[in-house]
Amino acid sequence: MNSFIPYGHQSINEEDINEVCKVLRSNFLTQGPLVPSFEEAIAERVGGHHAVAVNSATSALHIACLAFGLKEGDFLWTVPNTFVASANCARYCGAKIDFVDIDPHSWNISVPALEAKLSFHRSENKPLPKIIVPVHFSGQPTEQEQIWELAQEYGFHVLEDASHSIGASRNDEPVGSCRWSDVTVFSFHPVKIITSGEGGMALTKDDELAWKMRILRTHGITRETEHLEQDSLGLWYYEQQTLGYNYRITDIQAALGLSQLKRLDEFVEQRNHLANRYNEFLKGEQIQIPKILQGNYSSFHLYVIRLPTRNRPELHKRIFEKLRKAGIGVNLHYMPVHLQPDYRRLGFYEGMFPESEAYSHEAISLPMYPNLSEQQQDFVIATLQEILKT
Ligand SMILES: *Cc1c(COP(=O)(O)O)cnc(C)c1O
Repeated sequence: MNSFIPYGHQSINEEDINEVCKVLRSNFLTQGPLVPSFEEAIAERVGGHHAVAVNSATSALHIACLAFGLKEGDFLWTVPNTFVASANCARYCGAKIDFVDIDPHSWNISVPALEAKLSFHRSENKPLPKIIVPVHFSGQPTEQEQIWELAQEYGFHVLEDASHSIGASRNDEPVGSCRWSDVTVFSFHPVKIITSGEGGMALTKDDELAWKMRILRTHGITRETEHLEQDSLGLWYYEQQTLGYNYRITDIQAALGLSQLKRLDEFVEQRNHLANRYNEFLKGEQIQIPKILQGNYSSFHLYVIRLPTRNRPELHKRIFEKLRKAGIGVNLHYMPVHLQPDYRRLGFYEGMFPESEAYSHEAISLPMYPNLSEQQQDFVIATLQEILKT
């Protein structure tokens, strides 16, 4: 019997450990030189302009929404097929949330569904969104250039949730460059592509958004002379100019993130290699394998397949149980956000977003991480094939 194989796992080497230890022996555990170095290194890697590091992607989404001025009475739209944080950021600002269904093939936001909903809202004089959050599900970039075009037409801001997709690209444009968006957010949680333990980053080309996010992550405080509203009263002087938070990341975390970043390409290549192996060996089965759109290079944070379990939730559940029992840590990404109890209480219900709901009755995330050996992967494939036979 193999030991338990999780669906995702971090990859930490001796160099990562040494880099973190160096910080522990240095003068600064936080607010030292490594946070700006981490920001510059990520910005350089993805062709971004400004990078604002914070303690999680959730925090990055929150301060991005605040920087856009999202407030009570406003709407943010995202997809149901995501982690709750993509939607919660609107509610932190007192704004309202609504959803756009996914495409049945890419499992990302459906651009035709978005366009139809925008057009319907305009013609019916219903509120249009202030922000759209496209989520790069499983590491596959969203069709950003089309969403960006709609943003120009309908006047919303675009906040890419790229928690899954650092290292991915679309038409050779790296995710994070913000070519077709206002802000892009990364997560450095240990299950994601690279990790800082906990951590996140917001990238933008816009000087003012960057400035706002920078002060929002640290209590709304600045001590930079050129930004002061009042005359400085002395060398100690700082100002709180808006109500911000303590969303700072530490130098300990930044050291790990910087060290991990060196292996980003290696990680993403290995994930693509494993995805190709899954595709190859699962080809003949009665399942749907991931469809990567033309021009996209996925970072394969997740490897998701759809089982032939439409309208058969019991079977879906049983296949999960059998795989878990065999020591394979399969998972569901995601139960639709609008069906979470806290969202049902806001008035959402089953049947509102049929593609996301159908998807959630069929999807299963198979183990996918750089240190997954081919031997372990073969065991996963063989176990799944055996279960599908019966
Ligand atoms: C992980 C994740 C987040 C939140 O990331 P944290 O860094 O844990 O806050 C947000 N959105 C998506 C799609 C995620 O997968």
